[in-house]
Amino acid sequence: MSIDKPIFALDGGKPGIPPNGKPNGKDLGKYLLAGPDGPPGSNTSNNQTIELNFTGTPGTASALYYSLVFQLPKWGFNVIKADEWIEVSPTHQEYYQRTISTKKQLEGIIKEGLASATAAVADYELLKHDLRKYEDILNYFNEEDEHSLKAMFIDQVDVHTGEGISMRSIAPRWPTLISDFMKLTDEDIEVDKIAKKLNISRAEAVILSTKNRLYKVWKKKILDVARERYSLIYGLVKSREKTITEYKNWLKPYISRFKMTVLGGERSEVRSKTLKAYADITGQATFANGIRIFAWKVLKTAEIRKPLKEVKPSGFVIDPYDSYVREKFILNKETGLAAIYPWLLTELDYCQKCKKFYGAGIEKCPICGERTVKMTEADKIVMKEILPEWKASKMNLDPTESYYMFFDFDISRVGSRLPIGELEDITFDIRAYTVSHNVLLVKILEIKCREKEIEKYIDEILGIKFGESDALEIAKKRYPKAFEVEEKEKTELEKFSDELHKIGEEFSGAFKKISIPKTQLMFSKPGPYESHFKDRITKNYLKLTGGVFAQIKDFLIEKMGVR
Ligand SMILES: [Zn+2]
Repeated sequence: MSIDKPIFALDGGKPGIPPNGKPNGKDLGKYLLAGPDGPPGSNTSNNQTIELNFTGTPGTASALYYSLVFQLPKWGFNVIKADEWIEVSPTHQEYYQRTISTKKQLEGIIKEGLASATAAVADYELLKHDLRKYEDILNYFNEEDEHSLKAMFIDQVDVHTGEGISMRSIAPRWPTLISDFMKLTDEDIEVDKIAKKLNISRAEAVILSTKNRLYKVWKKKILDVARERYSLIYGLVKSREKTITEYKNWLKPYISRFKMTVLGGERSEVRSKTLKAYADITGQATFANGIRIFAWKVLKTAEIRKPLKEVKPSGFVIDPYDSYVREKFILNKETGLAAIYPWLLTELDYCQKCKKFYGAGIEKCPICGERTVKMTEADKIVMKEILPEWKASKMNLDPTESYYMFFDFDISRVGSRLPIGELEDITFDIRAYTVSHNVLLVKILEIKCREKEIEKYIDEILGIKFGESDALEIAKKRYPKAFEVEEKEKTELEKFSDELHKIGEEFSGAFKKISIPKTQLMFSKPGPYESHFKDRITKNYLKLTGGVFAQIKDFLIEKMGVR
């Protein structure tokens, strides 16, 4: 995954989470973040950081990297590549040309893939246009909007009956014809009655009676057609969406690789800083490659009298998504993830009953009618993607554990050409953190954000915007009269439960609130996490992380053959 955005800091940088894993650390209890509290190379009070460097013949440095990423899962870590980039220096023609041709090749594959995807998108847009057309008709029926239906009949159906027969063609000679037609109800069929009601000639009444009968037949038919077509086209729209998603997934790694490779001069503000350091040292770099790896695993403390853990209805012992972390480290525009990914703040409406998110501006849930609450895109990603995966124990996450060790590997590889031959140089900047799981949640959200940036990029080139995933369900609720067939089939029991539900709604209306779990700030303890630094945090957690840190360090040193 390669995107041009900085990594959310854990070492005191901004935006980021300030480390508090020290005696009297700020907000201990609300969260825990113990680890190096300064950028690489700075004096840090914490010894959980090391920089290991190795230089060898081409290939040897990469081998070191691979042995590390293969070993970490064996030690129980979940390993994620958070960032990767390669920069090739133009001063070395051979490398540079080779990179350009690789980039061109990638570009060709991407363009081809995009062309097919674009065709699918065009098809999708057409279908969506049709869908909206039938949606309009359903809406007319639902609103009992006879006027619009009649206008539609005149302009789209009657007009094809031909010159001298269609109302539009007779109207110049009979100026009141159309407005008279608009005044007719479904009951106005008999010629004499129409003539009397509208005070018109019998000849005109004959025409109106015929037209009204045709209109009634058409109206009956068009509703059936609209209902049927709507469901059918809806199915097609869904299948096109699936096709486009498949194209996108296929394209993603190519685009990611394409974006990852930067030629000298293309590099961004963020990366050029990292790179400059190498250029200054070697002055001979042919390429520089940066890889950022996040790895975590549960911190299982070996306490003798471990208190019984109670899993809450949320599925967690302590809910990792709390209002403190949400406001301070996610939604805050200066210190939170939103400083890097402003779209996290996009407002959404949320129905607590249906557990569904909608675009902003819906006051009431279109499915159940409940009043919605204001939420954000960040809430949606956490609640719909991260927490369900967490509860399912994916990514080595455990809903019954609340502390993790988190390793941040910032790996830089530089190739250089010297008179004595080619060399490959690798530096591992390793940082070990002990974190409460609400801190880990923010880092997982960051990874999701980085994935979504690539997806947004692809969506942008494709120019697509997917609609609501439950459009059919919503249409049925939004146009109940148009879909009355289904409604009528409700059993007595269902009707009764509907009634009961309505009464319940009236009573519960006053108590609705956002249900983001609040950290227990009101209790004597400052939060749900450990706050006694000396007795508990150091003894139970930091020691464990320290042990694993030493293990990783020793592993790499041994592989480097230094020992
Ligand atoms: Zn709802």
